[in-house]
Amino acid sequence: MKAMVLHRPASIETHPLTLEDVDPPDPRENEVLVRVDKCGVCRTDLHVVEGDLPPVRPSVIPGHEIVGRVARVGSEVQRFSIGDVVGVPWLHHTCGRCEYCLTGRENLCEQKLFTGYSTNGGYAEYVTGEEAFVFRLPPGDAAHLAPFLCAGIIGYRALKRALPQPGGRIGFFGFGGSAHLTLQLAARLGYATVAYSRNPSHLELATKLGAAETVLTGRTERASRAPHLDSAIVFAPAGEVVVEALAEVKKGGAVVVPAIHMTTIPPIEYDRLLFGERTIGSVEANTRADALEFLTLAGRLGLESTVSVRPLSEANEALRDLRRGDLTGAAVLDCTSS
Ligand SMILES: [Zn+2]
Ligand SMILES: [Zn+2]
Repeated sequence: MKAMVLHRPASIETHPLTLEDVDPPDPRENEVLVRVDKCGVCRTDLHVVEGDLPPVRPSVIPGHEIVGRVARVGSEVQRFSIGDVVGVPWLHHTCGRCEYCLTGRENLCEQKLFTGYSTNGGYAEYVTGEEAFVFRLPPGDAAHLAPFLCAGIIGYRALKRALPQPGGRIGFFGFGGSAHLTLQLAARLGYATVAYSRNPSHLELATKLGAAETVLTGRTERASRAPHLDSAIVFAPAGEVVVEALAEVKKGGAVVVPAIHMTTIPPIEYDRLLFGERTIGSVEANTRADALEFLTLAGRLGLESTVSVRPLSEANEALRDLRRGDLTGAAVLDCTSS
């Protein structure tokens, strides 16, 4: 099968992924083999490709926002049959026995495996997934569903962790694939949403998706104003944005960071920015319950992703555009086109 393979992490500008012909994976008893239709491009893939996340295998095929059809089932698989449309997400396996797994926090499992990092992922024509970690999807075409599998699910967990007051005001800092789904979800759940970005086209999209307010950052000094957000989610992987977000959050509010990697957060002035029972939190992966809840909500509320689709062979270019902040919405690879 065709796949985009990473042998050694390097700057995305050097095109570290190479298009290769490799053997398709063989599903184990509890796994399904999926013919990949579309695979979304996530910032975590960039961290894998550039080595911010240290390699855990000699080579890897990235990709964990996978939509495709079941092509083969292992002997123990019961929930899926050949031809079913399924989604394969980031969380690939948990141990089921550790203190985290036994207390409903499998996202923190010490032995968890990730699709497209610990195991080969969806920048390929075929991928395998454990039956228990593969999902049925709401109606929709594969390209628009792909970003739900990580951008959507992780954003949903961030929203839950942000604990906004009912009907409260939530800020979204950095407006990429995850924010554009999470803002839509928050708006439809009755929250007032504020989008912050350096990119005017991101803010245009935010307005279309229901943002109550948009704030252009970075170019000009903004007039300082009293904190007015109940909580904030920081999608930009830059530590200084956490401080920026804290300055906008009212007493009792939370700043949540759904990033697997981030630059160092500068010193925080406690009296002004953290006192008043403000909190800072992170999001580490997600549980299967988060995934099910989000996919159900996304179907019921008719969430729509904004995507640009390109061929599998252009994975390097898609990741480069993501890094440069040139994407509006999410990039998706067509894995049937190579
Ligand atoms: Zn565990
Ligand atoms: Zn992801």
